[in-house]
Amino acid sequence: MTSKPSDFIRDIIDADLASGKHTEVKTRFPPEPNGYLHIGHAKSICLNFGLAKQYGGQCNLRFDDTNPAKEDQEYVDSICADVRWLGFDYGSEALFASDYFETFYSIALKLIREGKAYVCSLNEEEIREYRGSLKEAGTASPHRSRTVDENLDLFARMRVGEFKDGAHVLRAKIDMGASNMKMRDPLLYRIRHQSHHRTGDTWCLYPMYDFAHPLEDALEGITHSICTLEFENNRPLYDWVVANSALPGKPEQTEFARLGLDYSVMSKRKLFQLVEQERVSGWDDPRMLTVSGMRRRGYRPEAIVRFCDLIGVSKNNSTVDMGKLEYVVRDDLNPIAPRVMAVLRPIKLVINNYEAGKSEALTVPFFPPDIGKPGEREVHFGRELYIESTDFEEEPSKGFRRMAPGRWIRLRYGYCVRCDEVIKNDDGEVVEVRCSYDDSTLGGTSPEGEKVWGIIHWVNAADSLPAEIRIYDRLFSAAAPDAGGNFLDYLNSDSLETLEAWVEPCLAGGDVGPQVQFERQGYFVPDSVDSRPDALVFNRIVGLKDSWSKKAVAEPSTPAEKPKSARSATRPKSRSKAEIRGAARYRDATLASRFIRYQDVGLSEGDADVLTGSLTWGDRLEALNAAGMPWDLAAKWLLNEHPREGDDPIEFASDVSEFLVVTTASGTLITTTSGSKLWGQLAREPGSAKALIKSQGLEQVSDDASIQPIIDKVIADNASKASAYRGGKDTLMGFFIGQVMRASKGKANAEKVKELLLAALA
Ligand code: ATP
Ligand code: MG
Repeated sequence: MTSKPSDFIRDIIDADLASGKHTEVKTRFPPEPNGYLHIGHAKSICLNFGLAKQYGGQCNLRFDDTNPAKEDQEYVDSICADVRWLGFDYGSEALFASDYFETFYSIALKLIREGKAYVCSLNEEEIREYRGSLKEAGTASPHRSRTVDENLDLFARMRVGEFKDGAHVLRAKIDMGASNMKMRDPLLYRIRHQSHHRTGDTWCLYPMYDFAHPLEDALEGITHSICTLEFENNRPLYDWVVANSALPGKPEQTEFARLGLDYSVMSKRKLFQLVEQERVSGWDDPRMLTVSGMRRRGYRPEAIVRFCDLIGVSKNNSTVDMGKLEYVVRDDLNPIAPRVMAVLRPIKLVINNYEAGKSEALTVPFFPPDIGKPGEREVHFGRELYIESTDFEEEPSKGFRRMAPGRWIRLRYGYCVRCDEVIKNDDGEVVEVRCSYDDSTLGGTSPEGEKVWGIIHWVNAADSLPAEIRIYDRLFSAAAPDAGGNFLDYLNSDSLETLEAWVEPCLAGGDVGPQVQFERQGYFVPDSVDSRPDALVFNRIVGLKDSWSKKAVAEPSTPAEKPKSARSATRPKSRSKAEIRGAARYRDATLASRFIRYQDVGLSEGDADVLTGSLTWGDRLEALNAAGMPWDLAAKWLLNEHPREGDDPIEFASDVSEFLVVTTASGTLITTTSGSKLWGQLAREPGSAKALIKSQGLEQVSDDASIQPIIDKVIADNASKASAYRGGKDTLMGFFIGQVMRASKGKANAEKVKELLLAALA
């Protein structure tokens, strides 16, 4: 396993271990069992369990089941299953806050006896009013001065059910004037006559989160209690409860930013609404970013864990691009998903000169050579096949390189065929193409003297299997569906498309996959709920290309061209540089995380791609940035000006900070043109930028007296162009600026040149 890059939480833990404050690391993941887990929870799970694993500690799965209203055993079961599926071990059993109810109660009694808690009989609204505001201090409740005995008596009667909901609450006696509103006598207990999914009707008094949570942590000896940023203000209260509980455990709370993804909603309440209103088929609908939805969609736990590692932890809330998640999923599946053929939008292809009833078995590989995995299956070539309707155009548009009347194309692994005739239905749609084949073309030979337009996939009509295919799109049509208004208004009505397809027979037995790549179409998985051997249903996991951002990265390569039965040896297709970079990122977690981070700091996907094909590029970039050069500037100069050795940038010969002078100086001290020259010099030989500027006379020229004579000469030398400009041909300005810049050997300040030219040519 590659080591995880550090972050502020790991820094805190390192310091705590170094100072001897802690000798072990104990974390917990504390879900409330009131819904299914989503990808945000997965991030928290990966963090908490990941820390325990990394530091040889322990992570508890503990249910925060202190609010019986919305909690249920169904959720407990699904959460346990999801955590295990993600690959994390929480020991033999999950823990429950409800198991500590008696302990919480005795700690409440202790606080009452010490005068640190009291029973308050104000109603909810009064409590809110008395609390004051950010600007005004709160007012003491009239019940704040109840005696200890009075409080003990009332609290005991609250427990046995003498009062109805809301009649009394238990509050901590802290400070009604505290600037942090959470410290103004917060609620510790409330009355709820409600059955609990584990304790039944034993209790009608339930602890508040702010009281229960720190006690749970302290009782379990948690060292680092990690939660999301919205609990930052609760931290002083957390510390107060821990300190006043007199428990030996001394957990400390650290907050990190919650994960948000665009085109999705994350809160359990909203996910619940989608389920309850049947906007989706259930918590595990493959369009939902729940752990169960992603599992049914065909994402593997490895991909989810890797995604969580890649996005890392931070203190700033931000929204992650959905494309990043899909990038990781695609990258995860590329090396493991066998390639098979499926025709999603079929039309029939009949080969007139191929013998009816004949069938030829072709043994073809499951993986392309660059994946380098064994495995093969038979496909049968025959007279009647299916091909994609999108692979045929009767009147081919410009750039269309597949089948059209009169054209030869190759049927993958099989023969070349030429389309001779089309058959249409009553609506004028092509439903069948009639072809001839050339029997000398099996195994890669082209028909004599003919151009072959492309290679398309197919399945045999005689033995392919029907399958329902579900193509998913984003569930919401707005990037931030819960930014304002009702998020349900932004549901994407086209988020599910269902197709009637034909697939290779090898998919029937369940021996292949479950995740497979349908060649040229994407990654697919049998639907775990609806697919049966005699009625196949496949979910599209993700397409082959990034549908979220413009430029596809690390597109999986396609399998070898030849069936094994055709013996002629072909070399694997050579890979493009982009493919090689994608493969390098797949192998190296540092490159992969750099790729994402560079986009986060504002570089384009294309630049981030080039900069993460090998470690050298990023090392140079980071050195420049560490020296104080902004990311975008460093990337621009590095990519455009830095000398290369092969595909890699050479080592800096000069001190990195010298490059700073070059880039910040351009536009002031020197021009960009001079800067480019200087950058190359400094890269190759040790030197001082300032000294070089001086010795080579590269200072930028921006005074009128030096530039004006050059301008006059350029205008005189180009008299006819000057009069054309004056006659209205404005576009010539670029020509004049270029001439003057050239005459000044790139040293003139371009803005000044333009200003003086405008005056001279007026
Ligand atoms: P939601 O806001 O989605 O309803 P929640 O915070 O109420 O979730 P809990 O069951 O209380 O759900 O969450 C369990 C743990 O998961 C908490 O520690 C919480 O901080 C963490 N968590 C919840 N949502 C996210 C998220 N989007 N990103 C990271 N961690 C999260
Ligand atoms: Mg919560």
